[in-house]
Amino acid sequence: MSARVHILPVFVPHLGCPHACVFCDQRSISGAQRPADAQTVREAVEAAAALPLKGAERQLAFYGGSFTAIPLEQQLPLLEAAKEALDRGLIGSVRLSTRPDAIDAEVLARLRAYGVGTVELGAQSMDDGVLALSGRGHTAADVERAARLVKEAGFKLILQMMTGLPGDTDEKSLETARRLIALKPDGVRVYPTVIVRGTALHALWLAGRYREHTVEDAVRVCARLLPLFEEAGVPVIRLGLNPTEDLSGGEAVAGAYHPALGELAKSRIFFEKAEALLEGVKPGSAVTLGVCPGQLSQAIGQHRKNVLRLEEKFNLASLRFRPAELPRGQLELLDVK
Ligand code: SF4
Repeated sequence: MSARVHILPVFVPHLGCPHACVFCDQRSISGAQRPADAQTVREAVEAAAALPLKGAERQLAFYGGSFTAIPLEQQLPLLEAAKEALDRGLIGSVRLSTRPDAIDAEVLARLRAYGVGTVELGAQSMDDGVLALSGRGHTAADVERAARLVKEAGFKLILQMMTGLPGDTDEKSLETARRLIALKPDGVRVYPTVIVRGTALHALWLAGRYREHTVEDAVRVCARLLPLFEEAGVPVIRLGLNPTEDLSGGEAVAGAYHPALGELAKSRIFFEKAEALLEGVKPGSAVTLGVCPGQLSQAIGQHRKNVLRLEEKFNLASLRFRPAELPRGQLELLDVK
C-alpha cells in the first residue's frame, strides 16, 4: 500500500458476522462500541476533509465486521455514503474487510458499482482443522475461491492471517503463509492471537483447553513468516493488533498483545542473522557488526536485548552494531579484535 494513503477507519463491529469466531470481540479490538451508519460515515468524512491532506489520498475503510454479509438495508446506506464522498472528491478510495464466504460475483459487482477499490479477506488460517476449532465457519477452499474472484474482478486484495489459533502450530502458520502468497495478494496483515476478555477463547483458556500464544511464541513464528512474505514481494502491512485503550486497559487478558510486535519479530530476525555470523568467533573477542542505518535499533533490540543475549551466548568481551552502507536486512561482520 502506498505510504501516501491516509486511512479513515469506520468500524462496523460484528455487523454481518454469521458466527462468533472464538477469538473475536470487535468492540475491544476496534474500540468502537456501536456500528457506524451512513451519518457516522458522513461525519467522519467531513471531519477528515477539514484537515490538511499534505498530498496523501484519503481512503475510507470499513473495518471490524463482515461488510458484504451485512443485510442490504444496512449495507447499502453505508456504500451510498462512501460513494457520495468519492463523487465529491472528499476521499480518493474505499476499502473494506469481510469474510471469504461472503464473496461472490454479485457482491463484487455491487462493491464495484459503489467505487470500492480494495477488499480485505479474513483468511486467518489455511488449515481446515484450525478454522473449525476457531469457529470460523468457512474452509481454506473458501479463501482460495474468494481471493481468486476478488483478483479477477480487478480489486486490490489484502489477506489477513493469524498465528496461534486453537490447533495451530508454527508449521501450519508457515503453510498458511505459503498458500496465501500463492494467491498473489497485494498485501497481508498478520495477527498473532490475543485472548480478549469474554470471548469463547478466554473461556477455553480459563478451562485449560487452550494454551496461550505468548509474545515470545508470536515473535518466534513471525520471524519465520516475515522473510517468506518479503521473498515473495508481498508487503506485510500490519503485524499485531493495533493497541486500543480497551485492550491495553485489561481486555487483552493474555496472548500476543504487544504494541511493537512487528519490531520484536524484525529484531529476532537480526538476532538469528548475527548468531550465524558469530559462529566460530573466539570467546573474549570485541566484535562490530554493520547494519543499514535505518535498522540499527532493530538490530540492537529493545533494551539492547540482542546485544546482551549475543554477548552472553558467544562469551564476547563486547558487541557493537554500527551503521554501514548495506542493503536493508543485511548484517556484516566489520571488525573482530
Ligand atoms: S473475526 Fe471477523 S467474522 Fe469473526 S466475529 Fe470477528 S469480525 Fe466477525
